[in-house]
Amino acid sequence: MRYYSTRNKKEAVTFAAAALSGLAPDGGLYIPAEIPEYPAAVKSSLGSMAYPDIAFETIKPWVDREIPGSALEEIVHHAYPFTAPLVGVGNRLVLELFHGPTAAFKDFGARFMARAFSYLRRNEDRPLKILVATSGDTGGAVADGFFGVEGISVTVLYPRGRVSPLQERQIAGLGGNISAIAVEGSFDDCQRLVKEAFGDESLRKRLELSSANSINISRLVPQAVYYAAAAGRALAGKLDPDGEATPRAHPPGRPLGEENFILRPGVPVTLCVPSGNFGNLTAGLYAYKMGAPIARFIAATNINKTVPDYLESGEYKARLSQATLSNAMDVGAPSNFERMAAHFSLEEMRGLILGAHINDEETRETIAALHSAWGYFLDPHTAVGWKAADKLVRAGRLKDDPLAVLSTAHPAKFAETVEPLTGAVPVPASLKETMKRQPNAAVIPPELEALKALL
Ligand SMILES: *Cc1c(COP(=O)(O)O)cnc(C)c1O
Repeated sequence: MRYYSTRNKKEAVTFAAAALSGLAPDGGLYIPAEIPEYPAAVKSSLGSMAYPDIAFETIKPWVDREIPGSALEEIVHHAYPFTAPLVGVGNRLVLELFHGPTAAFKDFGARFMARAFSYLRRNEDRPLKILVATSGDTGGAVADGFFGVEGISVTVLYPRGRVSPLQERQIAGLGGNISAIAVEGSFDDCQRLVKEAFGDESLRKRLELSSANSINISRLVPQAVYYAAAAGRALAGKLDPDGEATPRAHPPGRPLGEENFILRPGVPVTLCVPSGNFGNLTAGLYAYKMGAPIARFIAATNINKTVPDYLESGEYKARLSQATLSNAMDVGAPSNFERMAAHFSLEEMRGLILGAHINDEETRETIAALHSAWGYFLDPHTAVGWKAADKLVRAGRLKDDPLAVLSTAHPAKFAETVEPLTGAVPVPASLKETMKRQPNAAVIPPELEALKALL
């Protein structure tokens, strides 16, 4: 597969070049020359294939001969000892994407990326420095994915005081080849600093730089996998075949059988995606284009509603981000919009994506309501997704077709928001271990010179 910059359709590069450089030299994002399609035999058996097999079939055409089949098989096998269960909650489905080591969906992208980088650089001597800006979850997933990987070091920039204590430990608690920088500013400042560092000649001479943000194509492609897996299972009328779903205490007098989630074999599912930088949704669009049986998408945001506003008005207006309870979605200028716009016209997007935005008050209400009705804990990001679907149903824009909300993080990651509304949230073992770490980060003002001094 060849890749182009969103800003220059002339010069094609390999997957390795696109992945290892992250951002194109002209500031654009890499997109595939064409989006591959699943062979018919794969498409018709998505509902019954094991997760690593779907991963293999999905990723293969994107990495072509650069990562040969045997190496790719090994990579996906080691990257995915966990899967993405589809569970019924009330009248909907929830796609639980938080069963990886940092309890957020970003593990799916980061774990593939780390192993792919390691493979692609197997013959290189010069160490690689990965610079990543995070609004919370990316940093933890990337740090965890690359921790201990030889020949690669990672520097994570995060907005000081705007990530949770647990996220801070995931980002700044590992040490070794992972360093952390707390920037006195917003996520947009962190993202800008990374972009400026990439554009800095002297830095690029001194260091081999790469990015790991959701602008990186090697993170997006493995995220298309769970869309295909979920869509295939929903079409086949099957939930959680691996038994990994979060155990749930049902409220007394409300047995599981009373839940009336809608699952109609043969009817494609609508997928609701809590979104910030829009990497996740872009990966979903790739899965759709590859042939995964998806009816359409919901772009659910918090009050940082740049994309829902675009879908409504037809005018794209980036803005400054505002802090909310769903902090991993506090993005006012979503990078991946440039990819979406490169692949789809406004009219195509409107046909495929419904937008809705949710405020913090509604987020809290939804967390409390879901817990009291069904004993299910939503994290604030997933709650935005759930409520966005409610709003669209109420507005008559969605019928009662099968609908799955992507659960992007485990509720225990945001216990300080969730617990006052629900009582104690059960904590997965991986997070218990993380809480024991000591965070250790350098603090800098949001200026390139301060960052350069530390690199
Ligand atoms: C990163 C993140 C999001 C937003 O995903 P994008 O790909 O940036 O749109 C949503 N929820 C959680 C928990 C996240 O970590």
